[in-house]
Parts: sequence; structure tokens; C-alpha cells
Amino acid sequence: MRLIFFGPPGSGKGTQADMLKAEFNLEKLSTGDLLRNEIKINTKLGKHAAQYLDSGELVPDDIMIEIIEHKTMEFKEKDTGFILDGFPRTIAQAEGLKSMLKRHHRPLDAVFHIDVPKEILIKRLCSRWTCRHCHAIYSFPEGLPKAEVCSACGGELYQRDDDKKATIMNRIKIYEDKTMPLIKFYKNENLYIKINGF
Ligand code: ADP
Ligand code: ZN
Repeated sequence: MRLIFFGPPGSGKGTQADMLKAEFNLEKLSTGDLLRNEIKINTKLGKHAAQYLDSGELVPDDIMIEIIEHKTMEFKEKDTGFILDGFPRTIAQAEGLKSMLKRHHRPLDAVFHIDVPKEILIKRLCSRWTCRHCHAIYSFPEGLPKAEVCSACGGELYQRDDDKKATIMNRIKIYEDKTMPLIKFYKNENLYIKINGF
């Protein structure tokens, strides 16, 4: 099974993808987690990507497509199904993925769009905290309680730079401009499935 999850920032697509991953024993690749990890361990890719993540902009398509090409080869060798969480995010990425999977004779089975109204997203994102260690996500609408740590692993909780208000509005705008066109794209491919994320 080869699946895609896309949705606006704060839609909970990562959480939904995790549930499906466990249920069907699939590999999951979250491009957001991957990029944050590259930044953390300070690789060449990380150094380059940091400016985009901090401002909420998208990392350029050619870089993203190269990363995914590499990863899907690994999945092919292991012969496992996969879930892509956060990729593709533009039509160019979707086209890149399509031709890549076609070459490997590994077409997609479904594309899930997690749909959430904008007002809800803004509220959710402003209260979102992430575990630095295992990337688990928590919501504290009243702010982070004192001495709160990750209940899964005890790791430190922090607020991603891109979860701050101005950046959030920018990310939602970019989602509407660049990512929403995927709805039509995957409808045409007969892969589109909409899910209520609220
Ligand atoms: P969210 O869905 O909450 O915005 P993600 O963790 O999926 O967060 O992504 C965080 C950031 O990583 C994005 O704002 C963007 O800068 C970068 N990123 C992740 N995936 C992609 C992608 N497919 N193309 C370009 N940039 C990406
Ligand atoms: Zn944790």
C-alpha cells in the first residue's frame, strides 16, 4: 500500500498517518520531521533548509524531489508500503513523484486530504508544542504548564519557530496557493479521498 497524506498546517495529518502506519505496518516518511532532523544534526541539507522552515516557506521542489527519490528507493528495496506525510506539497512535487513511482512500477493507492477550517487551524497551531526527542505533538491552549515534559518519552517540549503567529498565517497562505491545487490534481488521478480533520 502506498499512501499520501496532505492537509494544512495543524490539520493533524501526521497523527492520522501515524495511526494508519501502526494499523497496516507501513513505513512512514514525514518530510517535516526529516528536515527538522537534518537541521538538528547540522548537515549541509539542514543548513540550507533552515531558512525556509523558520520563515514557513517551502523548501525548493528540486531538493524535496531528490530526497523523496532516495527514500522511495529504500522502501522499494525493503519491499514495504509507505505513507508520505507532508509530500507532495506542490504540483511540481506531485508530478515528480508520479513519474518516479511510474519508473519503479509502484503507483499510489490513495491520497488523503485532511480538511480543517482556517479558524480552527490558527487556534490549534498557536497552542502546539512538540517533543524535541520523539516529535510527539501536544496542545496547550492556555500556554505550556510549568515543568511539563513529553508524556511518551520525557523529552523537552518546545514551540517550533514556525508555530508562532505571523509565520502561521504565512504558512496557511502558502498552503492555499501551492498545496490546495493538489485536490484537483489527485481528483483527476482518481486517488483523492477527503477526510474531516475536525
Ligand atoms: P506543517 O504541516 O505543520 O506545516 P511540516 O512538519 O509538514 O509542518 O513541515 C514543516 C516545514 O518543512 C514546512 O513549513 C516547509 O518549510 C518544510 N517542508 C516539509 N515538507 C515539505 C515539502 N514537501 N516541500 C517543501 N517544504 C517542505
Ligand atoms: Zn517525546
